Amino acid sequence: MIYTDTRDKSVKTDFKNAVMNGMNEATGGLYLPVAFPALPPEFINKTPEPNFRDIAFAMAKPYVADEIPDADLAAIIQDAYPFAAKVLPIDPTAYVLELFHGPTCAFKDFGARFMARVMSYFNRTEDTRLHILVATSGDTGSAVGSAFHHVPGLDVTILYPDGKISPLQEKQLSTFDDNVRALKVDGTFDDCQKLVKTAFTDAQLRGKLRLSSANSINIARLLPQSFYYMYAALAVRNQSWRVNKIENPAIIAVVPSGNFGNLTSGLIAREMGAPIAGFVAATNTNRTVPDWIATGTYAPRPSVTTYANAMDVGAPSNYERIAALYDIETVRGLFASYWLDNDGIISAIKDCFTRTGYTIDPHGAVAWKAWDDIRNGALQSLKDGKKGDFTKPGLTPNLPAWADSVLDKQAVGIILETAHPAKFGATVTQAIGREPAIPDRLEKVMHLQDRAIPMKNDYPQFKDWLLATL
Ligand SMILES: *Cc1c(COP(=O)(O)O)cnc(C)c1O
Repeated sequence: MIYTDTRDKSVKTDFKNAVMNGMNEATGGLYLPVAFPALPPEFINKTPEPNFRDIAFAMAKPYVADEIPDADLAAIIQDAYPFAAKVLPIDPTAYVLELFHGPTCAFKDFGARFMARVMSYFNRTEDTRLHILVATSGDTGSAVGSAFHHVPGLDVTILYPDGKISPLQEKQLSTFDDNVRALKVDGTFDDCQKLVKTAFTDAQLRGKLRLSSANSINIARLLPQSFYYMYAALAVRNQSWRVNKIENPAIIAVVPSGNFGNLTSGLIAREMGAPIAGFVAATNTNRTVPDWIATGTYAPRPSVTTYANAMDVGAPSNYERIAALYDIETVRGLFASYWLDNDGIISAIKDCFTRTGYTIDPHGAVAWKAWDDIRNGALQSLKDGKKGDFTKPGLTPNLPAWADSVLDKQAVGIILETAHPAKFGATVTQAIGREPAIPDRLEKVMHLQDRAIPMKNDYPQFKDWLLATL
C-alpha cells in the first residue's frame, strides 16, 4: 500500500515509514493510505459473520501486505487481541458496542496494542531505541503505556494535563516503571499536544533522538479501530434480521468523539464495505465539529473541562484527515452531530440506566442520548422545517442523507461504549446513585505507586528533560 499525506498529495511513502514517523515532519500533514480496498462481498455476507480476529486480519492485510508477511500479521493480531469487542442489544433499535474489554478498559487498547506490536516488528532490525511521545487527555496514556510496557527497544513518554484527568486515569498512566514514563504538565491537553508536536518539528532534537508518536494521529492506531466497526455492523445486521426481522437495517454508528480518530476509523470501515449508512458525531461542550457541520466553518478553540474528559479537545487532530477525504457537503450527508453539556451528561447516564438497566460511562452516555433523541423526533423536527439552534445542546441542525431511514423505522443505532463506567465512577455514581462494579484489572492499579514527574508548560524545559533522560 502507498501512503500519502493530508497536506501534500504528491507525498508517497510506505507503511513502515508512516508508522515510525507518526506524522510527516516535512509538511506537518498526517498520513493516509491512497486507497481503502473493499473486502469481497463473499466475506462481508457470510452468515454467521466471521469472528473478530478473522475480520481484523482481512482488514489489516491490504495496508501492510507488501511489508509484513501473512504469518507475521496473523501473529501480531493474535497477540494484540486476546479480548474482543462485544455487541449487545439494549432494545430492538439500539445496540451497545462494548470496547472496554482490553487491559485498560477503554477502546484505545485496540489501536495501541496493534501499533505497539507493529512498531516492535519494524524496530527489530534497528540498533537504536525508538522514543514514543504521547499527549493524552485521559485514556490514551494508559492504553499506550500498557501496550508498550516492557516492549524491547522502545521507550514511552506520556504527557497529561495535571489535575484534569480522573484520579483513576492518573493511576493508570503514572504507575508504570521500566521503559514507560509519565509527565504531569501544568497546562491543558492542547498544551500537551503542542509540546509533542513542537518536539516532532524540532530538527535539532530529531537529530539526536529517534522519535515517534502514539496519538490518534498515528495511522497504526487508526486502521485497527476500523476492525470493530466492521465486526459490529455485520453482527448487528445479522442479529436485526434473526431476532427482530428488520432486514438490512440502515446501521448508524454513534461515536463519542474527541480527536475524531475513532470516527475516522469508522469512515475507513465504511469505505471498505462495512454496511454502515452513517454516523453520529457525539461530543460534549467542546463542540468544534458540531459547529463546523452547522456553519461550514472550522474554528478550533481552547478545550474546556467536562465530565466526559476524554473528549475535552478543542482542536481535534483528525479533522485534518476527515477534511482531506470528504468535502463539507459529503460530511453533512454522512454525519449527524450532537453535543451535551455536563448537566445533560448526568441526565443521560441516569436516563439510560432507568430505561434500559445499562450502566453507561459519561462518553457512551452522550452517544446513547444522541441516538435516543434522533429516533424520537429530533430528526423529524428538522425534517418538518424547525430551525434548531446549534449553540444549544442537542442535535445539530443538519439533515444527513440517512434521515429517512430513521423516520421509516428502518435504522438501528450502534452506540460505541468507549470506556468502562468504573473509569468514571464518581460521575456515574452522581448520576445513578450507586457505584459501578470495578473490574479486577482496574482495582489492581489503585494500589500501585504514582511515579509522575511534574513538568511546566514550557518547550525548552521539556526538551532539556528529554535530552537528559532518554
Ligand atoms: C479517547 C476517547 C474518546 C475520544 O476518541 P477520539 O478517537 O479521540 O475521538 C471517547 N471516549 C473515551 C472513553 C476515550 O478514551
